[in-house]
Amino acid sequence: MKSTMGSAREGTGAASDSDRVDVLIAGGGHVGLSLALALRLAGPELEVTVVDASPPEAVARDNRASAIAAAGRRMLDRLGVWEAIAANAQAITEMVITDSRTGNAVRPVFLTFDGRAKDGEPFAHMVLNGDMVGALRDRAEAAGATIIAPDTVDDFTTGDSSVLCRLGTGRTIAARLLVAADGGRSRLRSLAGIGTVSWPYRQSGIVVTVEHERPHHGRAVEHFLPGGPFAILPLKGNRSSLVWSERDDIAKRIVSGDEDVFRYELERRFGRQLGAITPLGKPRAFPLGLTLARAFVADRFALAGDAAHGIHPIAGQGLNLGFRDVAALAETIVEAERLGLDIGSATVLERYQSWRRFDSFEMGVTTDVLNRLFSNDNPVLRLVRDVGLGLVDRLPGMKRMFISEAAGEGGELPRLLRGEAI
Ligand SMILES: Cc1cc2nc3c(=O)[nH]c(=O)nc-3n(C[C@H](O)[C@H](O)[C@H](O)COP(=O)(O)OP(=O)(O)OC[C@H]3O[C@@H](n4cnc5c(N)ncnc54)[C@H](O)[C@@H]3O)c2cc1C
Repeated sequence: MKSTMGSAREGTGAASDSDRVDVLIAGGGHVGLSLALALRLAGPELEVTVVDASPPEAVARDNRASAIAAAGRRMLDRLGVWEAIAANAQAITEMVITDSRTGNAVRPVFLTFDGRAKDGEPFAHMVLNGDMVGALRDRAEAAGATIIAPDTVDDFTTGDSSVLCRLGTGRTIAARLLVAADGGRSRLRSLAGIGTVSWPYRQSGIVVTVEHERPHHGRAVEHFLPGGPFAILPLKGNRSSLVWSERDDIAKRIVSGDEDVFRYELERRFGRQLGAITPLGKPRAFPLGLTLARAFVADRFALAGDAAHGIHPIAGQGLNLGFRDVAALAETIVEAERLGLDIGSATVLERYQSWRRFDSFEMGVTTDVLNRLFSNDNPVLRLVRDVGLGLVDRLPGMKRMFISEAAGEGGELPRLLRGEAI
């Protein structure tokens, strides 16, 4: 839908020469696009524009994959996106956890999960990022959202009834609410004066797809190695996506060094259970850290996705937290609009913040503790964690709780994550 003058509520005088929308979203990754789509489907009267720094063709270049929890899959289903990506999505039917040293020939299994989510569906699916962002973009546009790309939201000024946003190309857009979904290094978060609690892990997540001789049967494996977790996540066919955490200096050597060194290091960690393996494409390393925004909202401003919280990928929950933000923020905005409230007001935004901030802190702290507990070779910690894993493996109630958390079903779920319309 084209954003034109006068379509949103009247703003400040400063916005008189600008386009006007109800919600301007900075960032067209998974989070920004799914928010735009959710808003347009539940509140077709809302004018929504997404500004994204990356050109549309960049989507096809992202060969990473993400584990989407059952709750996120229900939301994508409700938004009409799942049908476009389901054929390529691989269900995770079992999860196996081992704890060993890098060169160990045998990796004792300490914990296995073969649980399902509440609706009997698999607790997670692996989906290619390119497939998902492409489908979200198509659906958001078809639902009437305006997408401007490539361009950036560079600056903004907040007035009484609107926020005036300046784009890199010089264009200005006035909105009743600005949502920053501009990723972990969010420029807009800094411009809004929102500080963070953050520290680097001095670890990088190496990502690569491999082809293997034997089928994985939907099994995901996480080897806890002294350098960090090494996750083998099943994709369609005899392929798996690896997320492999290592100390920064080692990761750098592994991804930018000799191809034979990479293959040697890969095979030592991967093991032989799936037969011979072939890397498909070059590995990439992503620096890992914990970043939690001290506030999720400011005047006519809200953070969502990695802009609000960047966590360790040890539990594959970063994007799933972002989907929880999307579902909660869309529900908050649409309900406020239906009640005739100002969607950028402090009272409305406070509802979103109180819904999402504690949950995000809790997940951030949990992944931080897990990473500290497992990414080392300390014999005492090794004993503690192995006894703990063994206990969980023998207690069905505990296992069900972990499956429910992995399926994204804990806490107060917004409607979209329950598969319901807003
Ligand atoms: C190695 C690794 C593995 C992971 N695996 C999983 C997993 O299995 N499951 C899971 O749930 N999560 C996983 N995650 C986390 C997940 O990738 C992120 O949480 C998710 O991509 C965040 O999405 P986002 O839309 O918030 O941010 P991004 O994907 O970073 O998107 C931000 C967008 O904003 C744009 N942008 C930036 N600045 C501006 C600006 N000023 N104006 C306009 N646009 C701007 C960027 O171009 C980009 O398109 C993993 C992360 C890593 C590093």
